[in-house]
Amino acid sequence: MQRRSFIKKSSASGLALAVMPTLMITQEVEYSILELMGKVEIPLYGKGINLRKEAHDAFLEMKKAAYSEGVDIKVVSSYRSFDRQTAIWERKFLQYTEEDGLKPLNAIDKIIEYSTIPGTSRHHWGTDIDIVDGQPKVEGDVLVPEKFGVGGPYENFKAWMDANANKFGFYLVYTDNPKRKGFKYEPWHYSYAPISIPMLETFRRKNIMQLLQREDFLGAEHFTSGFVRTYILDNILDINPELL
Ligand SMILES: [Zn+2]
Repeated sequence: MQRRSFIKKSSASGLALAVMPTLMITQEVEYSILELMGKVEIPLYGKGINLRKEAHDAFLEMKKAAYSEGVDIKVVSSYRSFDRQTAIWERKFLQYTEEDGLKPLNAIDKIIEYSTIPGTSRHHWGTDIDIVDGQPKVEGDVLVPEKFGVGGPYENFKAWMDANANKFGFYLVYTDNPKRKGFKYEPWHYSYAPISIPMLETFRRKNIMQLLQREDFLGAEHFTSGFVRTYILDNILDINPELL
């Protein structure tokens, strides 16, 4: 936020071009609300990678470096459109309300332990990926926190990422900080900070409350102002501070 207002003020003063390095000018790129909510197609790069160009290139560099040290980074999930996230959301909503008999608000609370409200997923941005190590043989679900812990099949992967990911611009989003609220610990979810930081900045300046209240996917009619406010503070903004 501060950086942006600085850019605005500098531009207004007419000094901008004289003193502004290229990097700061590229950060002025505006992302549309449709783009931030996964509602328009964006150019994605790499078979099975599906990231924006700059994030894709950085990812390949990281993958190469990891491979030379015995870690075979494998993408489990990356870009996801609004429609795809809606399908995931509605499947869970129906399962929890109809099969498990939960009240709608309880079902929503349960969904948002791990899944985002459609339109608010960082996977809409083309900057975020869920990754594991492709080498060890793993039974069942791979995106399970214990599998990244000591003695787990992804222990080496986790150690390598802890030591190296940031050098390539990738940061863990949902850390294991016990004081953090919102989504649970996801040792597999990384974000390419040079693009996702300005995207989040743009997103938080939009009226997310109004946008969500306009949606009509299953369960959306239960979103109260209080619920959305808490969701924004906990699930969208209570992340690794290095991504703010
Ligand atoms: Zn993820």
